[in-house]
Amino acid sequence: MKDNNCIFCKIANGEIPSRTIEENELFRVVLDVAPATKGHALILPKEHCRNLFDLPEETGAEVMKMAQKIALKMKDKLHCDGVNLVQNNEEPAGQTVFHFHMHVIPRYVDDGQTIGWKPAQLTAEEMDAVAEQLK
Ligand code: AMP
Ligand code: ZN
Repeated sequence: MKDNNCIFCKIANGEIPSRTIEENELFRVVLDVAPATKGHALILPKEHCRNLFDLPEETGAEVMKMAQKIALKMKDKLHCDGVNLVQNNEEPAGQTVFHFHMHVIPRYVDDGQTIGWKPAQLTAEEMDAVAEQLK
């Protein structure tokens, strides 16, 4: 299913030009327009889904295979020193475009980027309680 109002549907299906670095029947992989580092790419499924919560399980498995392929290519061709996979779901988690995408971000020594979080202050009791909830 495509969503006519979704920019990533249009990019993934070639209706809007993009800097495509890889494509197969399930995905188009494009450069992010506002890259965190040189080579920052997005894996876009050709079928519309909003995010991880409605991603078909089989597509999810294929996304990870593609992420590995792109990461290896970045290592080989860009000589990056590391890679971050980042995947945001819903607004509080930083999602701004509501078509599933996996960021593949090559990292370089001294690239000056910070991709991370500060540790939350949870008591041991709170940690025990959340572990129980998630079992
Ligand atoms: P997120 O915050 O995880 O939803 O990431 C959305 C990403 O899409 C951001 O890194 C944007 O720079 C990127 N982006 C937005 N519009 C485009 C576009 N037309 N082509 C490529 N990347 C885009
Ligand atoms: Zn879409």
